[in-house]
Amino acid sequence: MLRAALVFLILSVMALPGAAQDLRALARVLADGSRLADDGGDVVLDLALTQAVPYRVFVLDDPRRVVLDFREVNWSELAVGFDRSEAIESVATGRGDAGWSRMVLRLARPMAVAEAGMRTDETDGTAQVRLRLEPVDADAFAARAAHLPMGVRLPPVPVAPDGAVPREGGLIMVALDPGHGGVDPGAARGGRTEADLMLTFAIELREVLLRSGRFDVMLTREGDWFVSLPERITLARVARADAFVSLHADALAAGRARGATVYSLSDTASDAASEALAEAHDRADLLAGVDLAGNDDAVADVLLDLARLETAPRTGALAEQIVAAFDRAGIALHPNPRMEAGFSVLKAADIPSVLVEVGFLSDARDRENLLDPDWRAMMQAAIRDALLAWAEADQVRAALVRQ
Ligand SMILES: [Zn+2]
Repeated sequence: MLRAALVFLILSVMALPGAAQDLRALARVLADGSRLADDGGDVVLDLALTQAVPYRVFVLDDPRRVVLDFREVNWSELAVGFDRSEAIESVATGRGDAGWSRMVLRLARPMAVAEAGMRTDETDGTAQVRLRLEPVDADAFAARAAHLPMGVRLPPVPVAPDGAVPREGGLIMVALDPGHGGVDPGAARGGRTEADLMLTFAIELREVLLRSGRFDVMLTREGDWFVSLPERITLARVARADAFVSLHADALAAGRARGATVYSLSDTASDAASEALAEAHDRADLLAGVDLAGNDDAVADVLLDLARLETAPRTGALAEQIVAAFDRAGIALHPNPRMEAGFSVLKAADIPSVLVEVGFLSDARDRENLLDPDWRAMMQAAIRDALLAWAEADQVRAALVRQ
């Protein structure tokens, strides 16, 4: 009997967005009646909802994932986080494409959706979703991953139709990328890691952005787990991000770097320290077995170059706005705050992408700032203001291009 062998996993709750999301969500996912069961063969996911909503299920390859989208639910009552089973490496919840709430199950081995259904209770209107996954071979998985439901936009998308930001009447979708995580803690000083500090910073920044009512926000990771650099870009693209902001607080040799710095992508680094920084970030992926060379988007180079040519000035404008906003807020800047280097995480050809060194963990003053909630709030407000100013200017630019 299946029940006897069920493995219930009770692990950490993921931080989820607050009021701004709650108001917009229609249905709630309830902790009671929601569970993940793994009997070593099939995996069964049950989700209890306060009401029936449209949903869709699909699988993605590379890495292998099962994606469950709802239109649209609030995850915050799913007080019991599901984490690992033998077959499911991680579970993440958050916002998906516009108007969709997303759950992503990362698979340890290829599995196909054997059953997916929603039952509605006629007396109280609640709904129960059951998803059953069964093991399949790699080829069968790849074949299924090739078929996506209508309206799901996935990489590679070499060129945005007109590069307009934000979508008319819509929210500005920002991808926040807390650097490092999991097997890659990043820099570490005084018992704190860059991965942990940047996750906190990103979650706080998400709140600041959502509260303004002008943004939609996705995080490339919502917990302490490893996400490869190409996957971070893919996640941003699946969410149709208008801008990508990678957040870091690296350590450099003492005395060499302090103050906020904003990086954009370039083949040639601004200086030796920047080059070393970009290489150090690739190294974590290489150690984790990620092939960065083969991941430079699966489209022809010439298309990529064209897309980057169009995106580069928009990226430059974003970096300038952030540096200017930091300056206005009185945040201590690096002597050369606007730099370039070959960061792999900034290689999305079609999404303006910047990497912000919020501060350097190797510097005593920066470290103190990073641990100070008031200082972080000031920095987060500056990033919000910069993103708003940038989006407005970008919309004007896009309108001019269309004429
Ligand atoms: Zn870093």
